[in-house]
Amino acid sequence: MSDRPQPVPREASGSPLGAAKAADAWEQWGPVASGILAGYARGLRDHPVGASVEPGWLLDRLPADAPAEAEDFALVLADIGELILPAMVHWQSPGFHGYFPANTSWPAALADYLAAGLAQQGMLWATSPASTELEMRMLDWVAALSGLPARFRHDDPGPGGGVIQDSASSATLVALVAARERAGGRDLLDRMVVYASTEAHSSVIKGARVAGFREAHIRSVATDDSLAMRTSALSELMAADVAAGLIPAAVVATVGTTSTMAVDPVEDIAALASTAGAWVHVDAAMAGAATICEEYRDLLAGSDAVDSWVFNPHKWWGITFDCSLMWLADRGPVLDALAITPPYLERDAAAGSVVDFRDWQVPLGRRFRSLKVWFVLRAMGADAIAAMVREHVAEGEWLAGKVAESSTWELVAPANLTLVCVRHAAGDDATRAVLESVNSSGEALLTLTEVGGRPAIRLSVGSPNTTHEDVEALWGLLQREP
Ligand code: PLP
Repeated sequence: MSDRPQPVPREASGSPLGAAKAADAWEQWGPVASGILAGYARGLRDHPVGASVEPGWLLDRLPADAPAEAEDFALVLADIGELILPAMVHWQSPGFHGYFPANTSWPAALADYLAAGLAQQGMLWATSPASTELEMRMLDWVAALSGLPARFRHDDPGPGGGVIQDSASSATLVALVAARERAGGRDLLDRMVVYASTEAHSSVIKGARVAGFREAHIRSVATDDSLAMRTSALSELMAADVAAGLIPAAVVATVGTTSTMAVDPVEDIAALASTAGAWVHVDAAMAGAATICEEYRDLLAGSDAVDSWVFNPHKWWGITFDCSLMWLADRGPVLDALAITPPYLERDAAAGSVVDFRDWQVPLGRRFRSLKVWFVLRAMGADAIAAMVREHVAEGEWLAGKVAESSTWELVAPANLTLVCVRHAAGDDATRAVLESVNSSGEALLTLTEVGGRPAIRLSVGSPNTTHEDVEALWGLLQREP
């Protein structure tokens, strides 16, 4: 007899990880988990907005090793309250005004729960027709809701289409890899150049590094007084690079920079880039969400001439992280760069006639993210999302008005949409001191940036739970003595 381990006969009810056990467990524990979220939603205001623990607080409370035997699941869930909530930053809090928001909503959370249980791998059409086709339709829905050009849609006869990436950073990486392909492929990489403004998100430099562009060929283009890319500077850099025998491969334009929400002149950038054949990718991570409202569609200027566009509904539309929507005017260069079909992934039924989203991204496997887009749009309706966007912009404008009247605070850049950047009239130490004082109060969370080499506080509105009274309270907190 072989000395290999023999299969151990299972109980009729199967593995504890299997479906038979899961059926009872969903019914028993699903409502308990929902109860935890309901309690959290009701008590959101009871938590200090920022984390109030010291580094190592949670590590000190977690066993060093994983349990070998099952624990009582009631105790596991109880630890959410004991161990996790105290060490959380409360991103949904009405007082959350840091970074950009990362919103959630109940239909998005339920969709993620269902997606986890339904366990779809959407890498190929053949591995999940449901995930693939729902994603195609959701990207078309959102393109239409956001006023994006028809050529970005799957139901347009052209080569365009949209895909859900995990993050805007990944979308930028994919765009840069496609740009590299279109500009001649990796053999010419040493001559290729990428351009983005000095205010572009750090993910552009990271993406360019990962895509293999030489560090010396990642150009930071100067900005104007509004901190938007200066096209004359772009034009000069491109001309000098072409004269030196280099290849302008990609320009990343930002619609809504992270520091100050500045908007690069996409139309002019696209015109310049087209003369050099460079790919234009638009990073509209936060601001792109605003184009659901007709009145903010000027943010789309130039979108009909760009190669790719990304925005993050996980920031502002209540579609839980991770959900970055990326559209391509032509999927060809992305597929040329990323499609590899080893024999173990060949599926005859699918060959060539369907969308296989693993070819539109770096990883192979992919989550069923379109479910949360579908749930949120159906449960809320697009009008409710647009109404929330309008309310948040109105609060941003209210804050900007207060700063304009104030002798204590001054704007460091034009306020735009939901973001107002300020510094204290008494100087940089006062700016930092007030930030510290507000954050340590637990009543609000603010973050710092740097504008013109000096610190500035970003006042960002975007929690669906923030009311006008909360924004007034924030303004009150800013009146503290430094
Ligand atoms: N681009 C911009 C303009 C951003 O503001 C951010 C994050 O705030 C990002 C990119 C990165 O987003 P993600 O976390 O989706 O990669």
